[in-house]
Amino acid sequence: MEPIMHHVWLRVFQRLQRASLFLRKSHSGCAEQATVLASIHSRRIRPTLPVSRLYQPLNLRDVGLQGEMTCKSQRLMQQAGLIHPSSPGCYYYLPAMVRSMEKLVRVIDQEMQAIGGQKLDMPSLCSANLWKTSERWDLMGNELFRLKDRHGVDYCLGPTHEEAVTTLVAHQATLSYRQLPLLLYQITRKFRDEPRPKFGLLRGREFYMKDMYSFDVSEEAAHQTYESVCQAYTRLFSRLGLCCIQVQADTGNIGGKLSHEFQLPADIGEDQLLVCGNCSFSANVETMSSDRTDCPQCKTGTLVATKGIEVGHTFYLGKRYSHVFNATFSSSQNKPSIAEMGCYGLGVTRILAAAIEMMSTEEGICWPGLLAPYQVCVLPPKIGSKVDKAAVLVEDLVHNLGETLPNLRGEVVLDDRTQMTIGKRLKDASKLGYPYVIVVGQHALEETPRFEVICQQMGETMFLSKDGLLDLLRRIETV
Ligand SMILES: [Zn+2]
Repeated sequence: MEPIMHHVWLRVFQRLQRASLFLRKSHSGCAEQATVLASIHSRRIRPTLPVSRLYQPLNLRDVGLQGEMTCKSQRLMQQAGLIHPSSPGCYYYLPAMVRSMEKLVRVIDQEMQAIGGQKLDMPSLCSANLWKTSERWDLMGNELFRLKDRHGVDYCLGPTHEEAVTTLVAHQATLSYRQLPLLLYQITRKFRDEPRPKFGLLRGREFYMKDMYSFDVSEEAAHQTYESVCQAYTRLFSRLGLCCIQVQADTGNIGGKLSHEFQLPADIGEDQLLVCGNCSFSANVETMSSDRTDCPQCKTGTLVATKGIEVGHTFYLGKRYSHVFNATFSSSQNKPSIAEMGCYGLGVTRILAAAIEMMSTEEGICWPGLLAPYQVCVLPPKIGSKVDKAAVLVEDLVHNLGETLPNLRGEVVLDDRTQMTIGKRLKDASKLGYPYVIVVGQHALEETPRFEVICQQMGETMFLSKDGLLDLLRRIETV
């Protein structure tokens, strides 16, 4: 058979198969609605799967949760089928979670590339030789996941990549001062042998991080780069609607002279912070005496203790690594010079978990709008109910959302579990935290049909005509 013919035939076959499946599933007398829904499913223009097909092992029902629940975000994320535990500190990231993470990665890419960041990808399997050269093979202690290959050669699973990136840049013999600042970053899995993994994705042994490394001609230039990355971080968190504080921090085993943490305030936060009530001063307790109450910056303010979750960390490294690995560039006088470096981390999976921890209620997830796995969920009426007739409007509505609103392409799901009441499906929807839920119910049968729109973030319910609804949804920002 010709490949193209085969393709067409396959589509026809799938369509027939789906239609018959739905007819079989539906009760007698409800074939009409089943046909409507089947025709929605078979529209190839809408790649989003209906809710009944979404892969969520726990499927939002109150099944016993596996493992010990140590915080709200962990429980909510497991209940909503976003993550599933595998071994201590390791999780499966399920499809809805991956959608959300990919959105966060797009936002991070935009902000890093806006300041000149170039994305690369470095090996997770790191040679022990590099780590011995920087002396971190011993300094890292038990936190480093170490392994040997079949030849008995030592490796580690990278928790961070200062050694790898610096040796990479050192291998480029022709780097010129004209190419600096050079900002290289990656978004990859990182590994840390946590003694006591807990709090779900907040303290795991395998997680995603964005790590960026900068190379500059001088200390002054490196400080400017440092400042521009801090500003990019501030913009990123403000786009996500997260209130993040930049605090002075300890440099730890990364080394260097200047360091800041980006902290999201939360009760379960493991970092103790001191924040001035009068000026912008804030610091991690590790950097000063914990009983200090007077502000070292403005001298008049009082320091207040609070707790935070560290979601980002910036370090000015100077020549700590570039000296050891001989990462040089040719200066304007055409002489080899050692580059000045900085490194900048963002916990990708940690930002998602921390945001859920901060924003959600005990009953359901509330996402930073941009990062919700899906923006809109449409609920058709229960099959066989009084308002069953309104189901005919669903096809037109879903088609319209997908076709006329480019911002919502792939962002609309249809909760086709029409054997369940609207109330039950609404409860599930609020657990997963769709920013907008559209109920096609009683008001859709009025002369001018109106749709019930539940807007999670505003905590509002509105009754809108189709045009009013499209106007509202057109304004949803997506990434
Ligand atoms: Zn102050």
